[in-house]
Amino acid sequence: MQELLGGKGANLAEMTNLGLPVPPGYIITTEACRYFLENNSYPQSFEEEHGTAIRQLENDMGKKFGDPADPLLVSVRSGAAVSMPGMMDTILNLGLNDESVEGLATKTQNPRFAYDAYRRFIQMFSNVVLGLDMEKFEHILEEAKKKRGYTQDTQLTAEDLKELIDMYKQIVMAETGQAFPSEPMRQLDLAILAVFGSWDNERAIKYRRINNIHGLLGTAVNVQAMVYGNMGETSGTGVAFTRNPSNGDREFFGEFLCNAQGEDVVAGIRTPNPIAELEQVMPEVYATLIQIKDQLEKHYADMQDIEFTIQEGRLFILQTRNGKRTARAALRIAIELVEEGLINKETAVMKVDPHALEQLLHPQLDPTAQKNVIARGLPASPGAATGKIVFTADEAVYEVEQGEKVILVRRETSPEDIHGMHVAEGILTSTGGMTSHAAVVARGMGKTCIAGCADLQIDAKAKTIKAHDQIYREGDILTLDGTSGEVIVGDVPKIESEISGDLQTILEWADDFREMHVRANADTPHDAEVARKFGAQGIGLCRTEHMFFDESRIDIMRKVIVSTDEKTRRAYLEELLPFQKEDFAGLFKVMAGHPVTIRLLDPPLHEFLPNSDAKILELAEGMGMTFQELKTITENLHEVNPMLGHRGCRLGITYPEIYEMQVRAITEAAIEVSKHGETAIVEIEVPLIATASELKHVRQMIESVVSGYGSQINFIYKVGTMIEIPRACLTANEIAEHADFFSFGTNDLTQTTFGISRDDAGKFISYYVDHNIIERDPAETIDVDGVGKLMHIAVTLGRENKPDLEVGICGEQGGDPKSIEFCQKIGLNYVSCSPYRVPVARLAAAQAAIKLK
Ligand code: ADP
Ligand code: MG
Ligand code: MG
Repeated sequence: MQELLGGKGANLAEMTNLGLPVPPGYIITTEACRYFLENNSYPQSFEEEHGTAIRQLENDMGKKFGDPADPLLVSVRSGAAVSMPGMMDTILNLGLNDESVEGLATKTQNPRFAYDAYRRFIQMFSNVVLGLDMEKFEHILEEAKKKRGYTQDTQLTAEDLKELIDMYKQIVMAETGQAFPSEPMRQLDLAILAVFGSWDNERAIKYRRINNIHGLLGTAVNVQAMVYGNMGETSGTGVAFTRNPSNGDREFFGEFLCNAQGEDVVAGIRTPNPIAELEQVMPEVYATLIQIKDQLEKHYADMQDIEFTIQEGRLFILQTRNGKRTARAALRIAIELVEEGLINKETAVMKVDPHALEQLLHPQLDPTAQKNVIARGLPASPGAATGKIVFTADEAVYEVEQGEKVILVRRETSPEDIHGMHVAEGILTSTGGMTSHAAVVARGMGKTCIAGCADLQIDAKAKTIKAHDQIYREGDILTLDGTSGEVIVGDVPKIESEISGDLQTILEWADDFREMHVRANADTPHDAEVARKFGAQGIGLCRTEHMFFDESRIDIMRKVIVSTDEKTRRAYLEELLPFQKEDFAGLFKVMAGHPVTIRLLDPPLHEFLPNSDAKILELAEGMGMTFQELKTITENLHEVNPMLGHRGCRLGITYPEIYEMQVRAITEAAIEVSKHGETAIVEIEVPLIATASELKHVRQMIESVVSGYGSQINFIYKVGTMIEIPRACLTANEIAEHADFFSFGTNDLTQTTFGISRDDAGKFISYYVDHNIIERDPAETIDVDGVGKLMHIAVTLGRENKPDLEVGICGEQGGDPKSIEFCQKIGLNYVSCSPYRVPVARLAAAQAAIKLK
């Protein structure tokens, strides 16, 4: 009942049902919280139900709120369905005041304990509910210790504490103009309201956004009778994990402190002792704890994170939950739980968070290494990269040719920088978000990238980076941690990643449950090799234009573009043909026996053009033109809105010679590779189709080129289209007539559906997400209601006409677990994503299949 009771509350209730020693209490539901947040008042029945709950608790404990002789004290704890740091901190010892503290002292015959509890309560309540600065209280506490020559809080005597309490109350008076609330029921009311209010505090909102937590009602409030770990040396408090959360080893792992309350362990006020030592100090308690931890682990069939308190030799369990763990531990634990018979393989596969796998796949910084962090940006593409600072793509290429490793540092990147990005170890930008050009391209290439690092002032002219008043120059060594977003000076040792051991086991299990294939987006044989190593079953998208950005080819491509007549253009294209053929042959070889989808040229031509006058001059000279002639040609190629302009099949139709060359290169490469006994399976993909007639036209052209090779054709080939325009979705039945396959280009489909250009979305999308105008950035996760609906229509219409139509996805979202689940739902044959995400997608696809079974 996590949704209604919150995780903490549901587990407390569950443990109570199991008969474990849990202090009694009651839970105010998340529904009540939601009601309160919306109406600024309690639901009608609240007062009566709350009254009953309090009386029940008083009966259970045999104590009454505010009883001056023997008061009931409680903790007030927040807890939503998903564990969420950032909401209200727990208040302990609520119910104390000047009278009842005396009662507590007499009753327990332990005045020191009573005043310590009161002191802590005032401090926590003032901070958490009244919003006063903790510093002030800490300061007085430190002064009091100093004055008396104490080093430990525990040295404070009852008399010392009484004095402190007076001073604390004075602070409250001075800061709020009101006395500290002494009425227990009022304390409780205020605390409950504070828990509700904390649902919408900034920290909580931010946490939910970063972790993509949506659709929860609010937080529950747990009101629970206090138990005391600070009643002397036979009391204590601790936290323990049933297994090691960092490597997953099967060992009891945790810490405890004698004579301490609540968060003393976590807060690091004193250094806690390893849990194993509890066996010596309190052997019986330890034995019970071991028994309970085994019981809890069996019951929840997962590694648990347990909080406990020992009151005068009696053990109480205050919390259990599935413990947070590293990706490595997640794998180990899932596998061992299967070996121990606690869960089956299906459950094990469901237990590992696919996102977490990404951590394991890129080279990692050695976590034990020293590092000097100079700035922090957005962790745009994971991994670790070290190299010399360079400021331009050309320098990057030059340095790499000299055998250096480089980090390309730009304010932002553009398609002009692709060749530099390709050779760089990592990319660092000072502007742009998680879907900026740098971020998207880097993830596609599997390169480490930190984007939007606003701490840095990059001066590309002076070739300097300024970070917090320190200057770094071209040639200085930087290390990027794309997983944390940290920019580090100097080299940091790394550890390589590969699929082996536990990761391999889980992925093999996942493959057994998976229904969709997983392919990779790969443009080069090297990417294709990485993809194969990670288990890709083909290439779902090869972007041919990336092949033109290479230093030796870009100039020829530029000449193609600026040629004024077809004959000249064909002559230059002829020069490009061998390069393309070689690239394709490389891909077919690596992917032998698996399909390779090759997209014909897609981007607007101007992306290839030189944009500096010097480059134009150089090119003009090479082509026997004047500077002005060429300048005019490039200016004429300018488009107002190139993303919606002369690109994709529109280029292929108006300049058929470009596609012809590409199809020839593909065909010749496939013939060659297939001659050597490997089977090339080729899918020729036409981009940006809006109408069936476009595809019909291009298909005829493709077929006439291929059939020109006659009996040489010794490979399997299909012709299909990328579906990336709403009109194509809506007329998919007509389009399917000319297509052997569809592949959803969800990057463009999202842009064209929303009417948003991805390059400009940064200015408002994060605002939208922050203010709940949209749930998620549709560039990261498929927008199911809009884009998803179009996809669904396209699959349905397409298969109406061609029941066997193969349909896949190759947009960025193809590696996103939530989107993968949607793809399974609408019956796609495969997802395709960047090579490093292939294992993530394998696992996510398995989870989707299991979930929807
Ligand atoms: P968090 O979510 O930050 O862990 P908790 O509500 O679990 O917050 O509580 C913080 C600390 O207070 C924990 O150490 C917990 O064990 C302790 N605590 C909570 N309720 C009680 C209680 N009724 N008696 C004694 N200690 C408690
Ligand atoms: Mg907390
Ligand atoms: Mg806790």
